[in-house]
Amino acid sequence: MPGFCDSCDERSDRLFDITRVPEFAEVVRSLNYRTVCQACYDDLLEESKQPAPPVDEEERRGEKRLPVNLEVQIEGTSREGIPFREKTITEDVSLNGAKIITHQDIEAGSVLKFTVVDSDFETSAIVEVVWKLGVGKTAGLKFVEQNTNWKHLLQRQGIL
Ligand SMILES: [Zn+2]
Repeated sequence: MPGFCDSCDERSDRLFDITRVPEFAEVVRSLNYRTVCQACYDDLLEESKQPAPPVDEEERRGEKRLPVNLEVQIEGTSREGIPFREKTITEDVSLNGAKIITHQDIEAGSVLKFTVVDSDFETSAIVEVVWKLGVGKTAGLKFVEQNTNWKHLLQRQGIL
C-alpha cells in the first residue's frame, strides 16, 4: 500500500498498518500513527523494546531536594586556613547531601565534617558550591559516600 508515512511524512511504496500490532498500541494511542514506512516501523519497534524510563530520574539519582530545616553542625577549615565549627541549619536535603546556611568563609572543593544535632549521624561532605546572599551564604554539600544512615534519619524524621 503506497502513501505517506505517518511518522516521517515521506512517501513510501509500501506502508505498514500498525494499528493492530500490540507493540505499537502506545504509539498509535499517543502519536496517532496508523501507517508507517519500513524504516520507521523498525525504529518504532526498537523503541518499544526499550525499558520505560524511570518515573523520576532526579529521585533515582538521589538529587531530589526536600525543603527541610535540620539542625546540623559543620566543622572544617576556612579559606584562610582557620579551623571552625558552626551550628546551623539545612535549607534543603537530598539523599546525597544538603544545602546549608553558613557564615564561614568556605570554598568549593573543601571537605567538612557534617553532623546532625541530637543524632549519631556524622559524615564527610564536599562543598560543591557556595552562594553568597548578602551577609549570609548557603553552601551545597555532597556526602563523600552514599549513606544509608542518612536515609534512615530522614525516614525517622518523617522527611522521606
Ligand atoms: Zn517513515
